[in-house]
Amino acid sequence: MAEIKTQALDSYLRLIEISRDLASTLDLDTLLDDIVRAASDINNAEAASILLYDDMARQLYFQVATNIDEPTMRGLVVPLEKSIAGWIVTNRQSVRIDDAHKDTRFFSDVEQTIGYSTRSLLGIPLITKNKVVGVLEVVNKKKGKFTDTDESMLTVLGAQAAVAIENARLFQQSDLIAEFVHELRTPLASLSTATYLLLRPEMSLEQRDQIVNNIHNETIRLNSLASSFLDLARLESGRVQFRKARFSIADLLYEARDVMMSKAQETNVQIRVEVPNDMPLLEADRDKIKQVLLNLLSNAIKYNRPNGSVIITGDYTDADISINIQDTGLGIPEDSIPHLFEKFFRVREHEGKAAGTGLGLSICKQIVQGHNGRIEVKSKMGVGTSFMLYLPRSPRTLPRS
Ligand code: ADP
Repeated sequence: MAEIKTQALDSYLRLIEISRDLASTLDLDTLLDDIVRAASDINNAEAASILLYDDMARQLYFQVATNIDEPTMRGLVVPLEKSIAGWIVTNRQSVRIDDAHKDTRFFSDVEQTIGYSTRSLLGIPLITKNKVVGVLEVVNKKKGKFTDTDESMLTVLGAQAAVAIENARLFQQSDLIAEFVHELRTPLASLSTATYLLLRPEMSLEQRDQIVNNIHNETIRLNSLASSFLDLARLESGRVQFRKARFSIADLLYEARDVMMSKAQETNVQIRVEVPNDMPLLEADRDKIKQVLLNLLSNAIKYNRPNGSVIITGDYTDADISINIQDTGLGIPEDSIPHLFEKFFRVREHEGKAAGTGLGLSICKQIVQGHNGRIEVKSKMGVGTSFMLYLPRSPRTLPRS
């Protein structure tokens, strides 16, 4: 009895502590992590997870859990009909179950994906301003069953979590949209000037050609700004699920080179690939890794000098696979390096030299981090730049010892 009382007191203290933190955290990822950790502590559960609900798409997405490898699960869609979480959203009620496998609402696909077995479960809807924003679940009580006290404590935590999640989401969106609208202004202003000039009778045919050319380029840029922006917004909201597969990274490097070959030939830039013969397989989302490589390669060509070169090198250790994309280009000023991966950032010195959106590197970083990897840069003005990718090797791609 005394032990139970101490445990309850610990839980209350933890609840007070976390409430304070939640109110002041605006970073959605940190916030969600804090919530699941607190939930499993407070309820003395083996694990906890959060699913977020998108009421436009009417879909539930797996978001974070204390017990699983994030990239596998993040963004995984959980059906509203055949799941306990879906039932919680639809009925706006909490659920307490002693044996999940006996419950017909249970969605075992998630279990298969994560290889984790659920016995007991307690789940509550996260509701704020009468809107369901998601579901908070704790699974497998360490001793005994989930109790009424567990449920009421989780409900208190959930009420605060819902408000904090909504705040963080609004903050994230307003930030991104404000930046996007700001970025739209420049191309729109030049389009507006261009059409004004086209309407002037004194323009020569040659000048008109040039203006039409400008309009064409600006529309292409607006188009790529829009698609990059959507890409980034999806990545930042955590709704992208990485589809992992094992593939030859060496082949992918050659493939990326082939795709960019004609672009490189325009300025007579040479691209070379160097990979060891025994380069191991990589387990990752192939399309997304290809997107990163093409982005870096496109930059290495775009910000190169005529007749320059790009070397793509692959290498590996027991821990990770590394890819280096090195160019003989303009280089990046030292004071710009810390800002390189910020949204919409472009080096001022390069602005007139090549068109771009300033979103490419932010997208690369999101994808690489989503794979638990990292991206680094080294550069020297007038000499060149190299971007290094490090992607962890999954145990399944390591040779058996
Ligand atoms: P974009 O190329 O569309 O402007 P990115 O996010 O891909 O956007 O890159 C941000 C900025 O970083 C670029 O505008 C450019 O100034 C600089 N940069 C990126 N890659 C290189 C490179 N290989 N060499 C020199 N500068 C680069």
